[in-house]
Amino acid sequence: MSQLRRQHLIAAFDNLDLDGLLVSSETNVGYLTGFTGDSSTLIVARSQSQILSDGRFTTQLSQECPGLDAIIRPIGQPMSDAIAGVARSLGIKRLGFESHVLTVAEFESLSSAASDLTLVATQGIVETLRMIKDADEIAQIREAVQIAETSFAQLRAWLKPGVTEKAAADFLEAAMRENGATGASFPPIVAFGPNAALPHARPDPRSVLGVDDLVLVDWGATGRPYKSDLTRVLATGKVASKFESVYRAVLEAQLRAIDAIHPGVRAQVVDLAARNVITHAGYGPNFNHSVGHGIGRDVHEAPVLRSVTETELRPGMVVTVEPGIYLPGWGGVRIEDDVLVTETGCEVLSRVPKTIESTQI
Ligand code: ZN
Ligand code: ZN
Repeated sequence: MSQLRRQHLIAAFDNLDLDGLLVSSETNVGYLTGFTGDSSTLIVARSQSQILSDGRFTTQLSQECPGLDAIIRPIGQPMSDAIAGVARSLGIKRLGFESHVLTVAEFESLSSAASDLTLVATQGIVETLRMIKDADEIAQIREAVQIAETSFAQLRAWLKPGVTEKAAADFLEAAMRENGATGASFPPIVAFGPNAALPHARPDPRSVLGVDDLVLVDWGATGRPYKSDLTRVLATGKVASKFESVYRAVLEAQLRAIDAIHPGVRAQVVDLAARNVITHAGYGPNFNHSVGHGIGRDVHEAPVLRSVTETELRPGMVVTVEPGIYLPGWGGVRIEDDVLVTETGCEVLSRVPKTIESTQI
């Protein structure tokens, strides 16, 4: 699998006239090798790839990356010297580097260690490959979604007036770990009432759930290591008419956006499908973020689904669809699912109920 991914990467070298690529992003190194450790750099050349690591990872590399050449850096050798040495030994003259990952200090030190090589700034080559998930990646995302779903059902059964946002977020995170996650894919958001008007609210230990309150929960699990990312809104007590009208608008927007997802459609069409519904309901300015984003090894990855994104959706992409309406002083509603683009349309991977009736706790 990893070898095939590296072959796809090499196929992208021609456009940039590269002999090799220095992969510094830990996530990208993991994607291209299967290695789950850190502090390691991969150099992919046309003929061969080598991973540069240190003595802490010798055993792990032989277990996780059989068949990949590993070079263990002697203690004290600067990474830039090691990279230059490997690049020369692989016959690389034009070495691409990930300009969105390397720091200025790392670039300067590499420039002086590799003054005989031409360093070529690249951006997002591996991230572009990562947009299309293979069967193994999709299976891992399904697992991460299932863990999130099971954990949310447990949270739902536990939630009651009197609990705090922080206690609920902690409960959810612990549940995901117990259900098989290595962790949360980001710190869970649990926001009650007016706090839900902040799309990225931080759970407050003093905010207590009331009897006629709404609860916004945005959460996800990290699996092996693929992630999930979901949002649901619940309500205690009687569903107020304002909540109902806002909720119905968001749900309709989300369903329309999901309907728009199929191969060949531009990402912006999906965003606009949701945005039109919310604008028509009178809440256009209150939907102040893009409708979704790719998900995989990172919780936010390419493609982003914005009103200006021209990227065409392709089978194998997994994206979130998460329109929302936020009313300062009142609260907010967002509904988020993870959606796989298939050959014929799409498949919603998450199945947490989202009808207005299902919001009642
Ligand atoms: Zn989310
Ligand atoms: Zn999201």
